[in-house]
Amino acid sequence: MKSKAVLAFLIAGSMAASAAAQQSQRPGSGAGQPPRPGAPAPARSPLPPPEPIEHITGNVYKIFGGGGNTLVVVQKAGVVLVDTKMPGNGQAILDEVKKITDKPITTIICTHSHPDHTGSTDFIRERYPNVRIIMSEGTKAELSAGPQANPALLPTETYKDRLTIGQGDEQIELFHTGTGHTGGDTFVLVPAAKLLFMGDVMAWNMAPFLPSGGAAAITEETEKLVAAVKDRGIEIVVEGHGHVNNWAGLERLARFNRALLTAARAAYDRGDPPGVAVAELQKNPDFAPLLDTHIKKGLEYGNTPLARAHMNVNIAYAEFAGENVGFGVANGGPLPATDKHKGSDPKDTAPPTPEMLAAAVAK
Ligand SMILES: [Zn+2]
Ligand SMILES: [Zn+2]
Repeated sequence: MKSKAVLAFLIAGSMAASAAAQQSQRPGSGAGQPPRPGAPAPARSPLPPPEPIEHITGNVYKIFGGGGNTLVVVQKAGVVLVDTKMPGNGQAILDEVKKITDKPITTIICTHSHPDHTGSTDFIRERYPNVRIIMSEGTKAELSAGPQANPALLPTETYKDRLTIGQGDEQIELFHTGTGHTGGDTFVLVPAAKLLFMGDVMAWNMAPFLPSGGAAAITEETEKLVAAVKDRGIEIVVEGHGHVNNWAGLERLARFNRALLTAARAAYDRGDPPGVAVAELQKNPDFAPLLDTHIKKGLEYGNTPLARAHMNVNIAYAEFAGENVGFGVANGGPLPATDKHKGSDPKDTAPPTPEMLAAAVAK
């Protein structure tokens, strides 16, 4: 793994077994290929494999599964990919792109450093040695950290706060508005498609996962993004995992992050447990989709939206208490305590039970 932060992230997502299994695959071995006879049975991957490429709008497509969503933008000279899933999915990505175009991959944009978004960049780079690989300076720093950093995942160019690539209808704009999910989060605007790709600052239509803390930081980061792009006529908001949302969905998430922080602060100051802040959020019907109690398709390894809200209130509590959950401190350190703060009920943040999983699969 690239760093302790990534390892912590994987463990937090109950994905460690999958990562180990997929990391050991060499490019070209083919994700989802049956094991050789006599080979030890691989740990069952909790991550669903890539699904067939889906058309979103105009020249923009999406590939779900195998890690984060991969956005596919077909341009005159070639294809722009945003995010490359877990290691071992490179061939599957190229096979899906082949269904819509024979053009080469010319550009890869990485939204952040986590392996479920950068894992197959090396495979694609091997096939297309001239590919441009673009990410924020923060993402490059995270991918470069640690003795096991993979140089084939590193960028050919970086940017600080904002970058525009391409001309006219083919323009793509990158925004970095602060730390939150990671220290290098990138948002990708495709103006001609009125489309914004969020990375994991918005994923599964639930409160964002905060592997290094940042309940306050991600609130500001999301609000800054909304302010920066609100006049751009965005209609389609593609999340880092899961399905396609819209502008109203992003605005709701920004309001929710702020409300969560405000409710957490008030409950913390009163000496109430985290569950009281979540109960406060549940009074607002606008937030109902973000407090859902169902397991999301494709997130059978993770938590429900309601459990995630509890986790983030716990992270906010840890921040209010001055515990080390901030970036630059915990990035590379242990995960913040997400279920142990001030009378938190462990049931609120527990992973789904076998019964919940069985019900989700049956649906
Ligand atoms: Zn992710
Ligand atoms: Zn992530």
